[in-house]
Amino acid sequence: GKVKVERVDRWRWKIPRQGPMRTDGMVYASDEMMEAIRQDQSLQQVANVATLPGIVGYSMAMPDIHWGYGFPIGGVAAFDLEEGVVSPGGVGYDINCGVRLMTTGISREDLTDEDIKALVESLFRNVPSGVGSSRKDFSLSQKELKKVLAEGARWAVRNGFGTESDLDRIEEGGCISWADPDQVSQKALERGKDQLGTLGSGNHFIEIGFVEEIFDEEAAKAFGLFPGQLTVFVHTGSRGLGHQVCDDFISLLVKTSQKYGIDLPDRQLCCAPISSPEGKAYLGAMGAAANFAFANRQMISHWVRETFEQFFRESAERLQIRLLYDIAHNIAKIETHEYQGKKVKVCVHRKGATRCFGPGRPEVPEAYRHVGQPVLIPGDMGRYSYVLVGTERAMEETFGSTCHGAGRLLSRNQAIKAARGRSIAQELADRGIYVKGASKATIKEEMPEAYKDVSDVVEVVHNAGIAKKVARLRPAGVMKG
Ligand code: 5GP
Ligand code: MN
Ligand code: MN
Repeated sequence: GKVKVERVDRWRWKIPRQGPMRTDGMVYASDEMMEAIRQDQSLQQVANVATLPGIVGYSMAMPDIHWGYGFPIGGVAAFDLEEGVVSPGGVGYDINCGVRLMTTGISREDLTDEDIKALVESLFRNVPSGVGSSRKDFSLSQKELKKVLAEGARWAVRNGFGTESDLDRIEEGGCISWADPDQVSQKALERGKDQLGTLGSGNHFIEIGFVEEIFDEEAAKAFGLFPGQLTVFVHTGSRGLGHQVCDDFISLLVKTSQKYGIDLPDRQLCCAPISSPEGKAYLGAMGAAANFAFANRQMISHWVRETFEQFFRESAERLQIRLLYDIAHNIAKIETHEYQGKKVKVCVHRKGATRCFGPGRPEVPEAYRHVGQPVLIPGDMGRYSYVLVGTERAMEETFGSTCHGAGRLLSRNQAIKAARGRSIAQELADRGIYVKGASKATIKEEMPEAYKDVSDVVEVVHNAGIAKKVARLRPAGVMKG
């Protein structure tokens, strides 16, 4: 059936509460995007999420919304800690998949296309990638792995990957404090033990790019961004470990949801009360997997620094390679928000959505606090990506959340079909972008046309006021997993 949608204003659409829904849905999109969004089941998914117990505020969807397991990708929902639930489908399979952006003191114009190519080749040598990529030289003992799961990026820094000053520039300081490694199954530990410090496959990437345009001088200054500046994106998550945690808990919660009298319009929404033993176990395991991902990105960015050091024969310090920010886009977090004039503690699910805290929040690093939290929005490997900044309006409307990317337009199979008889790598090379993938199929599946135009997505959140444009980046050399 078609879901009823009412326009609120140019950028907002309401799904009015009906049937078992406990609250309204709220979708951020333009007219054109709404046309496309109606094509799949994702609006029904927004309505389904609104039926879950203890939901606070709207069941929300960002303009990069598309169909996902249970919850839509691009979905945001907050739940009361006593009455509410936590759901693995509201987090996603790649727990704490996320992006980090590093800035440099190098200008794009100081490098030739050959230099970019050499840097990408060298990244391939220094960072393991591809399906099931592992580090045979770096298998962790179970004891050490559990330390990673408890400490996140702190573990990485303690072991020589990056510096203490990086930690402040990672969401949550790079460590979910309520992580509980003992809730992670043997099977998940087994899958994770030699995958720490690997990029993985498909949509995961390391991208060398540069700042093409600045929209907000003050925020750009605070973030250390300048026109022409070379930047590096890292996009990856918790690898097989996080995937297994998600699998394990979906199997468990499909069985227990009924026990708690939760009526599910879709089995994929399986969940448990946050206060229940199963809910706590999931949160603990999810936090542990999130910490794995924080450590993973921290290690990879250390090798990015080393790659630049080798290439330029200069220290990372002299090259001014700094972490701008690291942000999760598949996670559920316990956060304090103001809701209807009262302070509330809620569990905010962000699945294909990013935290976007406004100015003044203590969670935002001191150097950025006067402007707000940096928000990193990758687009695709052929066009552009964005840096945004969090806003007060996001705090009021979306529990400090916004979009996370362009969102897929074509399925992997559709993309491969559309790429038949073409060389995507050559097409990109003609536009001055060097791309190398761990496999040939990856480049086709991930071609720019497979994604929405991220500018359209960003325009919506910017105009709706739930994030503000700071800078647009252009890709120069991309390593695809
Ligand atoms: P995910 O696939 O993790 O849900 O979303 C990540 C986002 O990254 C996608 O929605 C897409 O917009 C973006 N993306 C995927 N591949 C690339 C790439 O190679 N380069 C850039 N800059 N963005 C990408
Ligand atoms: Mn991701
Ligand atoms: Mn991922």
